[in-house]
Amino acid sequence: MKVRSPFLALPLLLALGACAVNPATGKRQLMLVSESQELAMGKEYDQQIVAEMGLYDDPTLAAYVQKLGLQMAVLSERPQLAWTFRLVDDPVVNAFAVPGGYIYITRGIMSQLESEAQLASVLGHEIGHVTARHTAQQITKQQVAQLGLGIGSIFSPVAAGIAGGAMQVLFLKFSRDDESQADELGFRYMRAARYDPREAGDMFRQLVRMSDASGGRIPEWQSTHPDPGNRAEKADARAATVPQTELSGMIVHHDEYIQRLDGIVYGDDPRQGFFSGARFLHPTLRFELTFPAGWPHANQHSAVFAQSAEKDAVVVLSLASSATPAEAANGFFAGQGVTGTAVSGSINGLPSAGGAFTAQTDQGAVQGEVQFVAHGGAVFQLLAYASSSVWPGRQAAVRQTLASFRTLTDQQALAVQPWRVDIVRVDQTLTPAAFAQRYPGPVDVNALMLLNQVDEGGRFMNRNLVKRVVGRPLP
Ligand SMILES: [Zn+2]
Repeated sequence: MKVRSPFLALPLLLALGACAVNPATGKRQLMLVSESQELAMGKEYDQQIVAEMGLYDDPTLAAYVQKLGLQMAVLSERPQLAWTFRLVDDPVVNAFAVPGGYIYITRGIMSQLESEAQLASVLGHEIGHVTARHTAQQITKQQVAQLGLGIGSIFSPVAAGIAGGAMQVLFLKFSRDDESQADELGFRYMRAARYDPREAGDMFRQLVRMSDASGGRIPEWQSTHPDPGNRAEKADARAATVPQTELSGMIVHHDEYIQRLDGIVYGDDPRQGFFSGARFLHPTLRFELTFPAGWPHANQHSAVFAQSAEKDAVVVLSLASSATPAEAANGFFAGQGVTGTAVSGSINGLPSAGGAFTAQTDQGAVQGEVQFVAHGGAVFQLLAYASSSVWPGRQAAVRQTLASFRTLTDQQALAVQPWRVDIVRVDQTLTPAAFAQRYPGPVDVNALMLLNQVDEGGRFMNRNLVKRVVGRPLP
């Protein structure tokens, strides 16, 4: 959960059919959105993505990504777009594009790459999705599919900000043909910008390594970008068509890139909240809350939630946009289909307002309890509900959770810091095990090998820059 507005409305988009020339391929195709709609759509989605995911707070690194991306995009078939490349604060390995020239890469994928040329291959691929208008097409298809489903209410976890709004863009799936085309276009842009295309194969091999290392739980970027088959080999084959004289002058920038990663946050950032068992602690917003024991829970971009094991009750914590608990509660109880009365009070010394309610939703009648709590200049919404038939059996557990919201005073928790990548120059050739022993940290030798794209039997070579991880275990 991050410090930002919890909810932004979905843009209403018009779907109008038209036949247009695909700028990247030169072919005519059915386009459901015009270019001006595409630009408006992109702008709207961009605001939501920035609000939901947050930008990584490193202006130098962000400017580097923007500069590199722009350098390639101006060589594409759509140089006139207002290309925007953003570095988002997310540990997952992902990159994605929304229509109109907005491209996002996560700090997670950035730290797993080993050269500027590898980053260029990721950016080139995403630029390809924009120039070939794949994303515009996909979003339109998805919207057509969603028409008639109705707008979610506060009672849908999606609308509560858990996976809502523009975040759906992250789950768009491209076809294998689109993927092949984006790979091909990415190669074209890399070559035009004089980046060594042999690094694209290494980038794809790293994605495979990550997938293997996580026991088949593939990185986000792969899950939304289906493998068109032998991607690394195809990238190698494309690179092999480039004459040796041209290759020899091309940019890799291995050391320069690695040095840029010095200090980048590695893994989840506990400053944005972390779990200790069922207890959720937020050092930045300085609060804690204990969820019902045994309920699966998650800390998402704009909400924290737990769901009963039977999946029939949920507790969601998010930020309300009102100035006071009373104002927020009155707004809630004035909602359509909601019955109940707000009562002002306090929770562990913090001003609150809320109460029990019943509501009619798309999924039937629900019963629950809501509390709005003022703390640290913000108003928090604690919402618990279940279908009316199971609520009586769940309310004791969730009331305890709502009553557990309090100011965080645990000094160790307040001082918690994320793990970071640290760059070292090794002065002798070392096995990964010897390296891990000499440079101990919170991650194991397998994670270090992965982070450095080193395979079983590989070595960290003398005079090489190597990424290690520094930090302390969570309290
Ligand atoms: Zn793709």
